Amino acid sequence: MDKQELANYIKAGEIAKKAVAYAKEIIKPGMPLLEIAEKIHKKIEDLNAIPAFPVNLAVNDIAAHYHPIKEDESKAEGLLKVDIGVHFNGYIADTAFSLDLTPDNKYKDLIKASEEALENALKKLKQNPETTLNEIGKTIKETIENKKFSPIINLSGHSLSQYNLHAGITIPNYANGNKNKLKEGAYAIEPFATTGEGRIYEGGSSNIYRIENPKTPRSPNARKILEYVFEKYQTLPFSLREVQEKFPGARIALRELEQQGIIKNYPQLIETSHKPVSQAEHTIIIEKGKVIVTTQ
Ligand code: MN
Ligand code: MN
Repeated sequence: MDKQELANYIKAGEIAKKAVAYAKEIIKPGMPLLEIAEKIHKKIEDLNAIPAFPVNLAVNDIAAHYHPIKEDESKAEGLLKVDIGVHFNGYIADTAFSLDLTPDNKYKDLIKASEEALENALKKLKQNPETTLNEIGKTIKETIENKKFSPIINLSGHSLSQYNLHAGITIPNYANGNKNKLKEGAYAIEPFATTGEGRIYEGGSSNIYRIENPKTPRSPNARKILEYVFEKYQTLPFSLREVQEKFPGARIALRELEQQGIIKNYPQLIETSHKPVSQAEHTIIIEKGKVIVTTQ
């Protein structure tokens, strides 16, 4: 990794840390998800960066991939996962935390399980950056199971590269038998813990999209939106909410872009047995045999 690349990753991480601190400060039970999404988005832009993806605000059994649109009336409640992405010149920081918004703090232990799983995985990698993917997954799984919860096995961490959120390598949340080690580069590690079965299925729209095939759309409005999105995000995920704010008729235009195969919608990821899910996530850089956590 060259110096400039490393500096960009560190900068993205610093801004993500500030956005996380801000989110923790402002989120209160009953607050509209829309307000939270707007404020975090603005905070990232005020810090002179760009969201690497629309902030994910996933409640209870939704493990990930939910972003409110303008008309959304859902509120922060129960077990809320806040997953924040920041890109600086395309270099990404990806970090998440969980909040227990119940009056009796009933998700405290479930949240602790994913946080400790992440801490243990990071500890393992710091002790030995050559830890195998299988060992990382095993550490995550055992930490969560020791607390009598289950990891979500069909969600995983991932490698990062410039303007690429899932750059090819998967970091498992269970012992998957993969004996490969992480090479120099950037990675997100993200354990999910649940009281349920430990799997997710794909549900309805998350209101999050990405450009898949940047060809020219038919309608002028769709063309304008596509230009705006590509300039700002390239092929990183973007939100319906943001384009709704900037362009009239955004929803129709996005439908057209989707039908023409130009953009793709992300489905919500929902726990199969509809049980609550917690998540913790940090971005790391492995560089010259050392591990740097950019978002901690
Ligand atoms: Mn994330
Ligand atoms: Mn991630």
